Amino acid sequence: MAPPATCQSCRRSPSESLLRYRKGEEYVRHDALLQCDVCERFVCGECLEVYDILSGDDFLCHACAQTFHKPFGGPLPPGTRGH
Ligand SMILES: [Zn+2]
Ligand SMILES: [Zn+2]
Repeated sequence: MAPPATCQSCRRSPSESLLRYRKGEEYVRHDALLQCDVCERFVCGECLEVYDILSGDDFLCHACAQTFHKPFGGPLPPGTRGH
């Protein structure tokens, strides 16, 4: 299945700068949108970052990454997405 032409999160079409994914202090470059390993949306580098959480290279969007970092402790109850 081919990735969509636009980011499924911010709806922008990927440009050069949007296809660079932050991994720690480095950037990794990909030719296409990457898929979040958790919610499986194809998103651009602005909406997706590369994390070393589950294995060597995990691609998580910001929303899913927050569930791993839990900066304020405690998992969010289900149904808190959106508004
Ligand atoms: Zn995006
Ligand atoms: Zn996600």
